[in-house]
Parts: sequence; structure tokens; C-alpha cells
Amino acid sequence: MSACSIRVRGVVQGVGFRPFVYRLACAYGLAGWVLNGDQGVEIFLEGADTRLADFVRDLRTQAPPAASIAEVEVQPTQAAGLQRFTIRESEASEHPTVRVSPDLPVCEDCLRELFDPSDRRYRYPYINCTNCGPRYTVVLGIPYDRCNTTMKEWPLDPHCQSEYANPANRRFHAQPVACPQCGPKYYLKTSNREVGGAAAQSETVALLGKGAIVAIKGLGGYHLACDAQNADAVSALRERKYRKEKPFAVMAKNLELARTIVDLSDEAEELLNGAARPIVLAPARAHLHGIAPESSELGIMLPYTPLQHLLFAEGAPEILVMTSANRSSEPIAYEDEAALASLSGIADAFLVGERPIARRVDDSVVRASVFGPVVLRRARGYAPGAVATFPNHVPLLALGADLKNSITLVVEGQAFVSQHIGDLDYFGSFQAFQQTIVDLLAMYDVRIDELLVAHDAHPEYRSTIHAAGLGVSDTVAVQHHRAHIASVLAERGEWDRPVVGVSFDGTGYGDDGSIWGGEIFVGSVRGGFERVAHLRPAVLAGGDAAAKFPVQAAAGFLHQLDTALDFSAPPFSFPRRFVSARELVKQKVRVFPTTSAGRLFDTVAALLGFTREMTFEGQAAMWLEQLARRGDTRGSYPFPFDGAELDYRPLLQAVIADRLRGRDVSEIGRSFHRGFAHGLWRCVRQICRERSIDTAVLSGGVFQNEVLLEDIKWLVHDSPLQVWTNHLVPPNDGGISLGQAALAIFAAEHCG
Ligand code: ZN
Ligand code: FE
Repeated sequence: MSACSIRVRGVVQGVGFRPFVYRLACAYGLAGWVLNGDQGVEIFLEGADTRLADFVRDLRTQAPPAASIAEVEVQPTQAAGLQRFTIRESEASEHPTVRVSPDLPVCEDCLRELFDPSDRRYRYPYINCTNCGPRYTVVLGIPYDRCNTTMKEWPLDPHCQSEYANPANRRFHAQPVACPQCGPKYYLKTSNREVGGAAAQSETVALLGKGAIVAIKGLGGYHLACDAQNADAVSALRERKYRKEKPFAVMAKNLELARTIVDLSDEAEELLNGAARPIVLAPARAHLHGIAPESSELGIMLPYTPLQHLLFAEGAPEILVMTSANRSSEPIAYEDEAALASLSGIADAFLVGERPIARRVDDSVVRASVFGPVVLRRARGYAPGAVATFPNHVPLLALGADLKNSITLVVEGQAFVSQHIGDLDYFGSFQAFQQTIVDLLAMYDVRIDELLVAHDAHPEYRSTIHAAGLGVSDTVAVQHHRAHIASVLAERGEWDRPVVGVSFDGTGYGDDGSIWGGEIFVGSVRGGFERVAHLRPAVLAGGDAAAKFPVQAAAGFLHQLDTALDFSAPPFSFPRRFVSARELVKQKVRVFPTTSAGRLFDTVAALLGFTREMTFEGQAAMWLEQLARRGDTRGSYPFPFDGAELDYRPLLQAVIADRLRGRDVSEIGRSFHRGFAHGLWRCVRQICRERSIDTAVLSGGVFQNEVLLEDIKWLVHDSPLQVWTNHLVPPNDGGISLGQAALAIFAAEHCG
């Protein structure tokens, strides 16, 4: 006989871990106890040595699907002579670092009951168990107990209570457990009436079938849903939402159907069907009118709530548009009254669920990239999971960038990245940003004055100004493009590895106050990054407005060529805005120096025909990528590197010459991408060689471009160098807060 104590860290609360431990201990005839401690699950075991070893092995290999074990610590200890195994009450904690699980899709067992007419939860849209259902979107505080969730208003009836209290039941301590007798319900609200129960679902299905737009309450907010194959419904949604061209995500009834709509690689299918159930970007097979204009990709997801399964089972259109319910640019609506008010002109009806949403969490967006899976918008299913473990314990809050904002809280070395928040220039998003700070701090029970606060170096960012107003004594400004590189290394826990970091994006505040966006660094997270090369500078006329008008960006970049060409004439046919921007450039009025790679891509988009205003961020670059994808050519344009500057002038000259010659624009687009990839790779190789570095890091919004990544991957193929990209946080500004956290923590170390 012997005994041991075990501590398990990771996502181990609210995922059925204690009942799993209980069953396992009983199966091996071991005595002892399990409890939720403040740093994870604590287990005490006594019994035969071999049985203890079996237990520890199974603990790792047979853990519940939603659990994510970070660490198992086993200590031999004194036996206590216990006779049986028990589940003990949670210990109240001072600094809870136990992780809140992300929300989970409804599981197979619950789905079976959902469609079983003899089950008490038959067709009950809030069915869940310890392996599935809401977590982050219902948690109000820690420890994760029912009284700390949005289900606290619904006392359990005797049946649910007996399941909840029985360690052998799969609903043992399932905090959001409910049934039709005791739990919340859904009802359908139209302009003139309200219906509840089964009629709410069947009428919703009927409305969707007729082409109506229905706002449907989900896990982290409302969706606007309509039949994706009904072109009139889709265009009505665009008109009412003021969303001209930005693609809509769709939800397909099941995986088989999804396969007919998009081309799914094994990796993409794994993402689509995985526990996060994100929106997956994949090449379109079917044409859905008005869903993703001018794009060869489609964003698709599978149903993840019981309600979504019910609607499809009852005959809802098999492909639904499921887009975040909001007016353009505002954050997703999640509170009933606000949703009803703000969406009244958009939705024909509202399918409202009574269970409140604790916090707004959008659907996540991912892609199976050539460099591996990448999260482009990190939200439902991923947040608030920890994405990195730091080697020291400086408590820190990083406020991110102003576009695609997310924040990162580091507690006891664990970096928790918030869900996607949005663009802080919009009032609603800025409010969400403030709420999320308060929320994360409360969840991990830390006070703002205990924290080191990291923010962007841009003095005019709202997040920077907010940092100054927090009343914290320690704040650290982190340069934007260094944060991009650090975000990749933080994901991997690589603090000391020297790398060549390529940070290419649209805009970020540089060391010299100019607009950076084509930067190459050498260094490590611990030692810091030195800027060793960059894109040849140009100027931007009118500053930030140039990000909306590719021809305005083009004015500055084309000025570098010293050409007398008239870009107002065909084949370019630039509008008047170009001429006025060129005047500003010539007279050096309201111009800002820039090394932005994003604006270079915009310039090429303009030269190849995208001369209008963008209706959403990144549109011109995406348009160019789609164009290039259709180009069938191995040709590439020159993009030389002189040891300090990447010179785009030969690239642009080649684009212009081929355009004048009448070459197919998609071939030109592809040759531009190839040339860009070749030139960049040669430059990276040269710096690696000179500095004896074997690893390159690519980050920044430009590296969301899959055609560019494919061209780079092809070059990396037969190289001894390794290339690292983002996987857990976005390469766009959604990953900035993690990079800020990493650089700020090591900067703090330097200062003692
Ligand atoms: Zn379940
Ligand atoms: Fe950026």
C-alpha cells in the first residue's frame, strides 16, 4: 500500500474533471479524495502501487474531451487509511488561476437526448452536460459554481438536482444544467406577437424559409440569420445592415453539406469540426450569390448550440447566413433590450432566449494555412484560454492596438488573451474594451494597481490614452511591429531564441514617429529587437485616409518612380482623388513618411483595377490576393534588397509595364506576389547568414495573405532555415496584446 498527492493544472474546472477522477479512482479501487483547489484539481490517493501508476497514466490519456491538461504533478506521501473515494467541496481561493473553460459545442450524448421523444429534455434548446455547453459566456465569477453563473436565477428541480449531485451522472456539477421544467426558454418575438415553446422554433424555421431575417440569440451574442441561398434575403440583409461587400459567414446543416460548399482539406475539416467550432475560411465550391462578393473563399461553420441543431432538424434552410448581429462596425449585440432596440430595423423577428449572456463573444475565424492552422479572429471556443506561459510572475495587463483590439492579462505566468473586441474608434467597441478589462481583472481577482500595464507606443491610440488614465505607476510602451514578432515567439515560449523577424502590416507607430509597416528585426524577446532593414519609404498623402483609398496610397508610392505616366488615363483610369493626392505629395503638404507594406499592396491593387473606396478594412489587399490566385504563371518581378532597404520600385515598374502591354491582370497579380515573396525571402536569407540565425518569424496583417504564404512556403521548402508564424493568436493586430505582454515582462526584468 502507498499514497500520493496529485495536482493537475490546465483547463480542468467545469469540464467534468472531478467526476472523471471519481470514476477512475473507483474503477481501480483506490481511496482518497478530489477537490477543485485554487491552482487546479487536487487529488489524494491511496492503494496498491501498480493501481496508482495505472491511475496516473489514465488520468492523462482518458481525460474528458473538453479538459486540457497543462501539467500533472505527482508527490508520494503518507497514507491516511481512508476507506473510500470522495469528492470534496471547493476551497475558496485568494488568487484563482484556475482557468475558465471556453464555450463548448453540444456533445453527442446531449444531441441523442435532444432528439429522443422519450427524454425529458426532448427538443430543449438549453440541454447541456459536463462535457458540453456554455462556460465563458455564462460565468460571472470564480469559483465556477452555479451561483456564479447567469443560470443562478433558475433553481434546479428535484430531477436536475439529483443529476447534479450524483458523481456517477454525466451532469454531476454541470453548472448550467436545466430542463424544460425548471430552466430558461426561448420565445419568438415579431412586430405584433410573441410565441413560446415548440412554436417559437417551428415559426422561426417557417420565417427563414420564406426569406425573412431573424435575430437569433446564441452563446456569446445575437446572430442575424437568413437563407444563404435566397439572394433577395441576402441583399436585404446587406442593405439593412449597411454592409455593402464584406463577406458573410454561413452555417451549414452538417459536415456532409459543408463539403459540397467548400473544399475542405483534412486540416480544415478538423478545425471545422473541432471543439471551438469556428468559422473556417476555405475555397468555395458552390456559388452563393451575394455572400462573399469577389472572393474565392467562403467562411463556413457548423451548428454548435442545441438550438441551431433543432432549427436545422425542423427544416430550416440548409445553409444559413449567420452573421454577428450589429450595425456595421459596432460590437455584437448580446443583451436582449439593446438587441431588440438596435436591430429593430434589420431583423423581421427575434428568437430570444431567457438565459442571459455574461459577456459578448463573437464567432472565431480560422484558416488551415500552408504554415499550419491560424486563428484570424480569436473569440468563442478559444477565449479565455491561456495561450502562453511566461517564465516569471510579473502580473501584467497589455492593452493591445486600436484596430482588432484584444487585451492580455498575465497572472502567475499564465497569459490569458481576451476575445476579439474590435476597433476602438467606435464608441461601442471602446466601451467593450473598458468592460473587458474590468471583467478579466475581476475573473482572476487582481487589482489594477498590482499590475504592470503595457500599451502601444502610438501616443494617440485610444488604448494608450486609456493606459495613462488607469492611475497605474508602471506603464510600458511597446513598439507595434516588435509586438507582432514577439506574439509568435510567446506562443512557443521561445524567449531567448535569436530570430529574424519580418513584421509587415498596414500601419503602426514607428520609433521615429513615422508610419511603419514593412520592418525587419533581429533579436530575441528577452534581449529585444533591433530594426535592421525595412521597406523603402514612401509618403502617404492625407495620412490615415489613405488606408481607405488605394489610389491615395498609390499617389505616394508611384511618386517614387519619377514617371510622367498619366494614371488618370486607361488602362489605369484613376479617379480624381489620385490627382489631388498627387498634388499633396508633390507639394509635400499633409504627407507622412511610411514604410507600410500594406499600402504597397493597396497600390498594386489600384494599378490592377481596384480604384474605388474600400468598404471594409483590408479589402483591396484581399481583392488583389483573390485576383492573384486565379493567375496561372511562374513568372515573378524583381524586388531587390541592398542590405538595408527592400526596393519596390522595380516591382511597380514591372506591374505598370505589363499592365500597359495588356497582360492579364491576374497573371500580373501573381507575378507581383511571387516577386514579393522571392525578394523578401532573399533578404531574410541574407540577414540570417550574416548574423548566423536559423529562424525567421513572419507576423503582421500582410501575412494573412495565403497566396503570399504559399509562395514563401515554396521557397522555404529546400532551405535549412525554419519559418515560424502565428497559430494561437492572429497575425493581425488581434495578436498585439500578447506580444506587448511578452516584451514588457522582459523589459521589466531588465529594470530589476
Ligand atoms: Zn452534453
Ligand atoms: Fe499591425
